[in-house]
Amino acid sequence: MNKKYRKAIIAGNWKMNLLPTEVKPFAEGLRALLPKAKNCEVVLCVPFTHISPLRRSLKDSRIAIGAQDVSIHEKGAYTGEISAEMLSDMNTHYVIVGHSECRQYHGDTDFIVGQKAAAVLEKGMCPIICVGESLEQRERGLTMEHISYQVRAALSYIPVGKLRQCIIAYEPIWAIGTGKTATPEEAQEVCEGIRSVIRSQNGARAARSVSILYGGSMNAKNAKELLSMPDIDGGLIGGASLKTEEFAKIINAVSEVDGED
Ligand code: PEP
Repeated sequence: MNKKYRKAIIAGNWKMNLLPTEVKPFAEGLRALLPKAKNCEVVLCVPFTHISPLRRSLKDSRIAIGAQDVSIHEKGAYTGEISAEMLSDMNTHYVIVGHSECRQYHGDTDFIVGQKAAAVLEKGMCPIICVGESLEQRERGLTMEHISYQVRAALSYIPVGKLRQCIIAYEPIWAIGTGKTATPEEAQEVCEGIRSVIRSQNGARAARSVSILYGGSMNAKNAKELLSMPDIDGGLIGGASLKTEEFAKIINAVSEVDGED
């Protein structure tokens, strides 16, 4: 499948790490390391409290701001929640929905994930929809069945015309934060499978334009091989996005794959 129809994206997911006061030195450090990253969208998905300082630090930069979750509700009596409109008002362009940690700890179901993605699109931002199988599901040969269900359920909430703004992140749960990475072939097989689910549900044009990321212990050493796969358009990076040099190396791996070096 030709990659020219979609953009490469490297998104960092800080999870609940770093303090707002650490945002400025991080952003300055990263900006200094990124002269080569013109062919790839770079996103930092930070805690809600870090969005404002990040926005100030990224002024005139090509690094985009992302959030890690969103409410399905527009506004009202939902203590502790953050709406899509609040995020877009703060110049947020990307929002992770359905991360396995939100599914596990907050009870997000596939249908809630679909509603969150729709809420994000409604306010003009791009949802990064996470899907992934557990180790048990992989060992029982249920990987693709499970992922197909997750993708179909989430996309059933998305108007066809807005599908191109969606990003899917394939994150095998057993690879997240464990140091165990899927092999490039394993990751490619699932990402290709996700694209064929989109093709059968929404047609070939939609399938070729949706960026699909791999996430799960991606680092500076394994990024290039993973990013070389035909259906892997980028990465969602947890631990390795907390270190400027490591994260910059992953971003620069996109240029190496594109043959710019
Ligand atoms: C993630 O949390 O989305 C993730 C991929 O984490 P890590 O890179 O640390 O495995």
